[in-house]
Amino acid sequence: MNDTLKTEAYLLKDQLITWRRDFHRHPELGFKEVRTSGIVAKHLADLGMEVQIGIGKTGVVGVLDGGKPGPVVMLRFDMDALPIQELNQTEYVSQNAGVMHACGHDAHTAIGMGLAQLMVKHRDEIAGTLKFVFQPAEEGENGALAMIRDGVLNDPAPEVALGLHVWNEAPVGIAQVGVGGVMAAADIFTIKVQGKGTHGAQPHRGVDAILLSAHIVTALQTVIARSVDPRQTAVVTVGMLHAGSAFNIIADVAEMTGTIRTFDPIVREQILQRVKEVVEGTATALGGSATIDIKAISPATVNDARVAQLVRETASDVMGAANVSADQFTMGAEDMSEFLNRVPGCFFFLGSANPDKGPVYPHHNPRFDIDESILPDGVAILAGAALRYLNGER
Ligand SMILES: [Zn+2]
Ligand SMILES: [Zn+2]
Repeated sequence: MNDTLKTEAYLLKDQLITWRRDFHRHPELGFKEVRTSGIVAKHLADLGMEVQIGIGKTGVVGVLDGGKPGPVVMLRFDMDALPIQELNQTEYVSQNAGVMHACGHDAHTAIGMGLAQLMVKHRDEIAGTLKFVFQPAEEGENGALAMIRDGVLNDPAPEVALGLHVWNEAPVGIAQVGVGGVMAAADIFTIKVQGKGTHGAQPHRGVDAILLSAHIVTALQTVIARSVDPRQTAVVTVGMLHAGSAFNIIADVAEMTGTIRTFDPIVREQILQRVKEVVEGTATALGGSATIDIKAISPATVNDARVAQLVRETASDVMGAANVSADQFTMGAEDMSEFLNRVPGCFFFLGSANPDKGPVYPHHNPRFDIDESILPDGVAILAGAALRYLNGER
């Protein structure tokens, strides 16, 4: 990676912070990123790019053809915020009640805009095409799939896809570029337990849906402990359990929802099967019944080894080799996986926590904030990796 690129990315720092704070002040929920995508589209058009809007409802795509022929590299940035009331007291605090950029997608959007600006200046060095993809609705609504359905992976079809996430699980100055599975596959389940209501003092006349649910929750924890190879990584979590209406009534129904996280598709199938058996079998054994509905949210995010290597080398040039690790993965999920399931590529993490300055809260916390000094690093790494790939390192 050439030093000019890094220097130029660092010169964008103030601009990147201005953009990021503007998006932070005006967060928008998934598929409602009208203001955000409007700013992005105008910026890309002002840079002279061919711009498409309305891809996946509020998604924006900008295509930058280089001076020489070559493959297409896709660069993906998510734009959506979360339904959280911000508790920070910064001058750029959210002006939109109940909505907050608590995952850092404001930073991703700013990095994408800065990268576009930098790459236009280097158009002559681009042997191929850069496709800037600004995605809506990453948070659980699968905006990636919406964009794919609207043809984002065609005309021109990318050969490789790159993306990043600012990451408060790591300190500022660190980049994590994993190989293979870096984020888990996520499924959501809903269990409906059917018992039989009766007086709280006459339990023998009914079937207690609460007691039954308690057994199901406990039994579900045996799935990971006793049905999954201990060398594999997986999670089964019950996140909600609702039942009952009064102190002296045996509840007739209960409902719970939760999530299953896995990396290996075979392990995932085993768990789905066991969870179903445990839920239905436990309910039946205790005299009631239960149904379970399981829906896939997104597959695992899997990095291509060669592309990850290229990104890791570029990150080492930008951040110093000692500050770049290869062994990171998390049970969180990301719909970048939908792109990486179809196009090889790399999704990496840029440490953004800074205990000295303040931002230490986890993602999705009402006090989440990042150390903005990392924004130019994101631009520099993506710029360097994309140019290296286009210029033959593939
Ligand atoms: Zn998030
Ligand atoms: Zn996120």
